Amino acid sequence: MSLPVDARTKPIDVKVHVSTGAGMDIAWADGHHSHYDFGYLRDHCPCALCNEEHGHGPQPAAANPLPLYKPRAGARAASAVGHYAVQFDFNDGHSTGIFSFEYLRQICPCDDCRRGESAAG
Ligand SMILES: [Zn+2]
Ligand SMILES: [Zn+2]
Repeated sequence: MSLPVDARTKPIDVKVHVSTGAGMDIAWADGHHSHYDFGYLRDHCPCALCNEEHGHGPQPAAANPLPLYKPRAGARAASAVGHYAVQFDFNDGHSTGIFSFEYLRQICPCDDCRRGESAAG
């Protein structure tokens, strides 16, 4: 069984829990469900600024060996960008990251999706 790519990157229900800080939930057209913490989204911000900081490609979030104090990441606001993306206003003042649904599906943190990309190391 192969699903059209469109169904995997098309959200049918998006909930952003800004006031509770619980993150974002997305239900996808292919039946998959994703939950993202705001901290996870902040770490995976796709904007040019963050990619410059981190170098090319996504970095493993747990790779930081230093116990740096980091305030718990949250979002002050979230807004839809057309029908294809969500933009967050993070509580550290960062708001230039635009998360397309295609990208969000790629970074889905659930076990099933993580297993799928384990080869990348
Ligand atoms: Zn960014
Ligand atoms: Zn997933």
